[in-house]
Amino acid sequence: MAIRVLEAEVAGMIAAGEVVERPSSVVKELLENSLDAGATRIDVTTTGGGVESIVVSDNGVGIPEVDVPLVFQQFATSKISRSEDLNSINTLGFRGEAMYSISAVSKVELITRTVDEKVGVNINILEGNVGVISPAAANVGTKVTVLNLFTNFPARKKFLRSQKAEAGRIATLVKRYSMIWPKISFSLSQEGTRFFSTTGSGSFRDVIATIYGAETSKGMILIDRQGIDPEYSGPILGGIIGSPSQTRANRSHINIFVNGRYVQNRTLSYAFEQAYHGLVGHRRFPIGVLDLRLPGEDVDVNVHPAKTEVRFLNESEVFGVVQSTVRDSLLSSSPVQGVSSVSAGNSATLDQATGRYDFSPWQVRLGAGSANKPNVQSVVNATNSMMVTESNLSRINDVSDEPSAGGNVRSTLPMLRILGQAQSTYIAAEGPDGIYLIDQHAAHERVVFEEVIEKAKNSSPAFQTLLEPFVINLDPSQISMIEENDPLFAALGMKLEQFGPETYLIRTVPAVLSQSNPAKALIDVLDSLENGAVFETWEEKAAYSVSCHGAIRAGQSLSVVEMETLVRQLESCQNPNTCPHGRPTLIHLSSKHLEIEFGRR
Ligand code: ADP
Ligand code: MG
Repeated sequence: MAIRVLEAEVAGMIAAGEVVERPSSVVKELLENSLDAGATRIDVTTTGGGVESIVVSDNGVGIPEVDVPLVFQQFATSKISRSEDLNSINTLGFRGEAMYSISAVSKVELITRTVDEKVGVNINILEGNVGVISPAAANVGTKVTVLNLFTNFPARKKFLRSQKAEAGRIATLVKRYSMIWPKISFSLSQEGTRFFSTTGSGSFRDVIATIYGAETSKGMILIDRQGIDPEYSGPILGGIIGSPSQTRANRSHINIFVNGRYVQNRTLSYAFEQAYHGLVGHRRFPIGVLDLRLPGEDVDVNVHPAKTEVRFLNESEVFGVVQSTVRDSLLSSSPVQGVSSVSAGNSATLDQATGRYDFSPWQVRLGAGSANKPNVQSVVNATNSMMVTESNLSRINDVSDEPSAGGNVRSTLPMLRILGQAQSTYIAAEGPDGIYLIDQHAAHERVVFEEVIEKAKNSSPAFQTLLEPFVINLDPSQISMIEENDPLFAALGMKLEQFGPETYLIRTVPAVLSQSNPAKALIDVLDSLENGAVFETWEEKAAYSVSCHGAIRAGQSLSVVEMETLVRQLESCQNPNTCPHGRPTLIHLSSKHLEIEFGRR
């Protein structure tokens, strides 16, 4: 084939392919334009999950009439002009591609007016063809209407998810932007209903209350930016973070912003999680809105057309600032200060809101059930010693010359004699060949996981009917997940019933969760359905989060009978050696290992 320059229409679709992945990408670009225009009020309205229509109107500076035809040209921007400007970008947009890309794959109407003009202008663009400009009555600001997204781009349209799922993504996005721009009043209406709106009061707590509820907001910790040397010009972290008791089952509530731009960045997310090390349980993730500010020349945002990736000039400095600021905020807000003074009898987590320790609602579900609660110190110790154990484990593996269990061969546990419990976390047992240390939480997770899967497969879930149904508010993406997986929830033993447009009733819960908070458990199941990539089937994803909630914790004292019950159950598991997430449930110190460690007797 001869080389030819692509027609504008095809070029537009290629550009759109990178910038406009789905309806929420359109909303993102339009929001960023409104923010760059200095708006203090931004209203977003969508129908058909954004595919039918997206309207974003703002009270920003507007676009001068003479510039209006340029808006839809590729690489037309008012934000940078010289190559040097790319070294220090202080606006959200700069590529001059978004309006061009959006208009290539939809029908766009733009109405705008600047403060210097008496009347506004209106312009229509259909699949990249710019129409005539006509006068229009308008307030100062800009209103962009995007209709019939991807109608001319079926290759992209077929990858979209259900209307509700796309609407859910838009909601998540608008919420994110409202969280980081608390001084701006945002509103979102979907399918004719007002979804939420923020006041623009400027307070992180207020926006968080609108989005996550007053309870959550109250429990969160504001990062204090006072006391920073005015001469200091490095990265500064602000925002609001969850207390160690406000964790979720995945990372989707870690919202990271760099100079006001939402980004996905593993370094920052890891630094944030590291700050909670030892304070939150395994596979639990903190929540927060991280507002990182640094000089524009220290960060490169020109990595990808969607601009959600950034590169830092000094990554380790940024890592350090995030980790230490978050850690300091956690320490100075008391949950950890209290660690050593907490008396036994309290459970591991301090509820920031009430200032009380959160007495986990579950009880041991093995046999009689001891109600002894661990103290915080023992949990912290447990986490530390877990690390030591892990390194020991690798040392043991290094010297091991035993043939491995080989592929998928089922490895069963021999009959074990319980020796006792260590650190309220590990069960020590003796077998025919050496000593076993069993992580009680991981082991119980495995037991519960297999039980739940088995029952779900036979459609005979063990469930418990709640005396009073539990009311829970869900967002559209969560609702569509429930609708799409109705049979799954039934098979798990969770009976859900729609109660209002955004509310559901939880009528029954899986029996293993009878002592947990049903709303928390449901939200975790939904989170892991969305993100639990480790598992292949949805049943497994759901069963994992159920087992995690239903399992006994590290730090829980167990009676001998309870330990025996657990070990017997583990013996009959299909896969007793790892927890559903692949971590070991036990360490086996064979006689040979012991001989190597201690020398032959
Ligand atoms: P970029 O944001 O990268 O400059 P866009 O294609 O998103 O590129 O927008 C092109 C130009 O249109 C912007 O530079 C800006 O001048 C103008 N513009 C777009 N949306 C708005 C808005 N809501 N208010 C004011 N100006 C806008
Ligand atoms: Mg833009």
